[in-house]
Amino acid sequence: MGMKMDCDILISGGGIAGLTAAAAFGSAGFKVICVDPAPPITDGEAAGADMRSTAMLQPARRVLEAAGIWEHLQDHAAPLQIMRIVDAGGTDPEPRVTREFNASEISDQPFGWNFPNWLLRRALMARLADLPTVDFRPGTSTTSLFTRTAQARVGLSDGSRITTPLVIAADGRNSPMRKAAGIDVVKSGYGQKAIVFAVTHPIPHENVSTEIHRTGGPFTLVPLPDRDGMPCSAVVWMDDAAECTRRMALDAQHFSDEASLRSCHLFGPLTLATPRNIWPIITQHAARLSGERIALIAEAAHVMPPIGAQGLNMSLQDVSTLLELAQQNPDDLGSQKMLDAYHKMRFSDIMLRVRGIDLLNRASQASAPIARDARATGLNALYAMAPVRKMLMEMGLGMRQG
Ligand SMILES: Cc1cc2nc3c(=O)[nH]c(=O)nc-3n(C[C@H](O)[C@H](O)[C@H](O)COP(=O)(O)OP(=O)(O)OC[C@H]3O[C@@H](n4cnc5c(N)ncnc54)[C@H](O)[C@@H]3O)c2cc1C
Repeated sequence: MGMKMDCDILISGGGIAGLTAAAAFGSAGFKVICVDPAPPITDGEAAGADMRSTAMLQPARRVLEAAGIWEHLQDHAAPLQIMRIVDAGGTDPEPRVTREFNASEISDQPFGWNFPNWLLRRALMARLADLPTVDFRPGTSTTSLFTRTAQARVGLSDGSRITTPLVIAADGRNSPMRKAAGIDVVKSGYGQKAIVFAVTHPIPHENVSTEIHRTGGPFTLVPLPDRDGMPCSAVVWMDDAAECTRRMALDAQHFSDEASLRSCHLFGPLTLATPRNIWPIITQHAARLSGERIALIAEAAHVMPPIGAQGLNMSLQDVSTLLELAQQNPDDLGSQKMLDAYHKMRFSDIMLRVRGIDLLNRASQASAPIARDARATGLNALYAMAPVRKMLMEMGLGMRQG
């Protein structure tokens, strides 16, 4: 190209997706600058720590291995061997229909491994510290984007400018770089929010992930390693926004009591073990995954309700697709040909999953009795059919492409 570039790739956003992309491209020898206004919080007890946890499904593990991140994580992995889906009805929640999927039906490995997000950040920082190819600049944000056919120029909050052949927007659901590139989104809401937290409980989870459906939205418990000598699970509790706001204001004891009731007491009384975070539930996707000299990944490209552990796993698929294209033709980094190929390879898979999760969420949220019965019958019928069951499990695992 002959022009002086400051790096091969500028990554806007150092959330889990952006930092993973930095490690993946840095490990492959690309020169990366990654910026984020916020310093990563790598201690679960610290104020502002991300209380979400992420189930890394089998294909995600391969991406993490190649990026040198897995070795920093493996000692903390809680395997997910069985997925249990419960439909709960009645005035006080009671299990009506229960279905279990065992990973052994399709693989000699578990479905995936669950990690607290703050721990993922710690592992990512440890990996980046070993990579001379990656220049991570916490405390800095991207402020402007100017592109031409041959390069992008990105303004940073410290007043400097970066010239680069490729910008990766990993700057979240309100992505400033996506907006600067003029790429639209399609968005819809459900009037729902999610409260995320961890609990300890007397009855062991035995590596079973449990999703309890009831009007308003699912209550999902995902195994975590023991905490203070007690079995421990991460919880995502989706419900009407007003109910979530009310529960956020409850003291720990009353909150734990309501959570225990909602969990149908399947694990005995639950005890709140961490602060609570609240998240709006939306579905959103970018109209295109690329623009001139820019590729969108992760929540900048797709946001969906936290069901079936799709979000970050799709993001890692975005990263590995981009990396594969970059390695095929490194001199062509960020060209229209490469970015068109990226859009083409990822868009239909993303749309399939966005629509599938949207349907599942609407069915789960349904409050009309007829829809509720359909939900119970539907779950029952779907999960009873071996081929459908296998396909759903493979989709859940991300083993099926497009
Ligand atoms: C309740 C809940 C539970 C979930 N559970 C799962 C799960 O089990 N499995 C799964 O796969 N996924 C799950 N997800 C989805 C998953 O958390 C996200 O897909 C994942 O965190 C991707 O985030 P991200 O890095 O794109 O965005 P973010 O984490 O929002 O990161 C974006 C980053 O960009 C930075 N930024 C913003 N503006 C700028 C700028 N101008 N310049 C530079 N940086 C900027 C921000 O500071 C931030 O750090 C869940 C989501 C929710 C809400």
